[in-house]
Amino acid sequence: MNWRDRLNRFMYGRYGQDQFSRFLLIVCLVALVISFFVRIPGLGIVVLLLLGYVYFRTLSRNVTARYAENQKFLELKERFLGLFRRNGSHARQQQDHMIFRCPKCSQKIRIPCGKGMVEITCPKCRTKFRKRT
Ligand SMILES: [Zn+2]
Repeated sequence: MNWRDRLNRFMYGRYGQDQFSRFLLIVCLVALVISFFVRIPGLGIVVLLLLGYVYFRTLSRNVTARYAENQKFLELKERFLGLFRRNGSHARQQQDHMIFRCPKCSQKIRIPCGKGMVEITCPKCRTKFRKRT
């Protein structure tokens, strides 16, 4: 049995990594880098506790609870990112619309997202083509 099988057996039925754990690890890493430059009392303990929590989540067998935590984290992240999106019209345009190119004259055409299969008529050369949005 090689180390990979052993790891698989060990991790069987356990939750493993998710976006929330990765985010916490990044927070720990940033905190460690900061602690090289600035002495913040108690930061080392906070990092240790966070790392302990990440290990606890990764090895947890309560997959449902961990999944719910991750969903909550993703929701908060989306809401946080949404604060910036409202200000940037470019980012908003990219989210709500897709850019297609006419197959004939390569005119750029902006189409709203999430409409399914649509027939697009090029405003320049009147070529019709179908795309999934
Ligand atoms: Zn065209």
